[in-house]
Amino acid sequence: MREVRVRFAPSPTGPLHIGGVRTALYNYLFARRHGGKMILRIEDTDSQRFVPGAEEYIIESLKWCGIEIDEGVGVGGPHAPYRQSERRDIYLKYAKQLVEAGWAYYAFDTPEELEKFRAEAEAAGKTFAYNYEVRTQLPTSLSLPQEEVEARIARGDQWVVRFKMPENEVVKMDDLIRGHVEVNTSTLDDKVLYKSVDALPTYHLANIVDDHLMEVSHVIRGEEWLPSLPLHYLLYRAFGWTDTQPEFAHLPLLLKPTGSGKLSKRDGDKMGFPVFPLFWTSPTGETSRGYREDGYLAGAFINMLSLLGWNPGTEQEIFSMQELIDAFSLDRVSKAGARFQPDKAKWFNAQYMHNLTAEELAPLMQPILKAHGIEVADEVAGKAADIMKERMTLVTDMWDLTSFFFVAPTEYEEKLAKKQWKGENPAMLQELRSVLEGIEDFSKENTEAIVRAWIEAKGFSLGQVMNTLRLALVGAGKGPGMFDVTEFIGKEECIKRIDTILATLKPIE
Ligand code: GLU
Repeated sequence: MREVRVRFAPSPTGPLHIGGVRTALYNYLFARRHGGKMILRIEDTDSQRFVPGAEEYIIESLKWCGIEIDEGVGVGGPHAPYRQSERRDIYLKYAKQLVEAGWAYYAFDTPEELEKFRAEAEAAGKTFAYNYEVRTQLPTSLSLPQEEVEARIARGDQWVVRFKMPENEVVKMDDLIRGHVEVNTSTLDDKVLYKSVDALPTYHLANIVDDHLMEVSHVIRGEEWLPSLPLHYLLYRAFGWTDTQPEFAHLPLLLKPTGSGKLSKRDGDKMGFPVFPLFWTSPTGETSRGYREDGYLAGAFINMLSLLGWNPGTEQEIFSMQELIDAFSLDRVSKAGARFQPDKAKWFNAQYMHNLTAEELAPLMQPILKAHGIEVADEVAGKAADIMKERMTLVTDMWDLTSFFFVAPTEYEEKLAKKQWKGENPAMLQELRSVLEGIEDFSKENTEAIVRAWIEAKGFSLGQVMNTLRLALVGAGKGPGMFDVTEFIGKEECIKRIDTILATLKPIE
């Protein structure tokens, strides 16, 4: 196989949809699997759709996901620059080359002329397409005399270069996922390749020229580009680059949770899940949720995405990036669209949270604690999270599940208080306070042994004592085993919390 060189070529038109992240991921896995290179090219030749901040967003998203770029925007490389707007001088030559070879032509029609033509065609009951039937009837270099063409260009009339799509030819194509595909060119129109108005190529021309110049070996991209494939094949032929033409793989769509139609931001808004990797604020101030800010771990997010359209052929579901690299192959990418399941995304994240060690949990916990004004050593932060991790689904759950380790209750859950703060319980707690006070070694095991012995000697019920203690220390019917709490907060804090409840909560009769 030739040297594998793949590219992720997003257009900076807004935040990167998770479908785009998956495209980047599959390119990356393929590159790494075959010891190749991953290129990031920014396709920003459509100035109308350019959105400030989108490029930075794309780069930050890839970084968060752990998708490394070997060459491209932000990294550099032998084919720099990798931002198409900075390569604008390259493309005109190629557009002219196609015109000279008879594969393309100049078109001078104004929007008004074109509209008139379109209206006439529609009035005659035809659907308008800019193709072999009409290109000689409009002012183009195919219908106008050569001198007229030169004069128009010389005097600065606006023009475009269009591809001269052959009539009635079958283009035979091979896609690594879809197999063999054939399309008759009579169904296709003459796409614009270059525009004089902004001296910029369109997507089709820039994409082919750059894939060629950057020696791209495989084009792995979304299914929405499949209809462009015949044109791309013909462009390679027109340029005489068929020998080094990349192989193509068109990835299946990401579908709505209902399974019908493409997954959109609206689905996410309606059903409460993000469709973007990171939080995004548009230039007009509109915001969109992101997986990172919603509390997902990058590894879980990537793992979940990897299986939307690809399967390893085994039952394995949890994959590290390296395991994905080792297992990935385009043969196992499906043709059918992949249904996005928000619950499955959560399930993956929960698995990842449960598998983190205290050391790995600490850095997730620290910013949350800091935001609540709590400064503790990493070890303490990690330990708190570690005790509760089995109940965590998202990073954003961490505070609710662990706050009682760091903050004494300021109020008591009514349901629990009603049940526990009555009868002999307040007096019993007072007595337990003295027992705790007398314990030297406040480790979980030792405290538990002493308290249990006391409960037995006194003939109390274990549940009753534990729930009353929970009310005092946690303030609610949640949290881990009580001796995890006593050990974590320590003797002094236990006594303090018991004193607080004794002093502030009136027994409920
Ligand atoms: N710029 C195109 C996009 O935004 C790239 C398509 C391709 O990979 O050829 O998706």
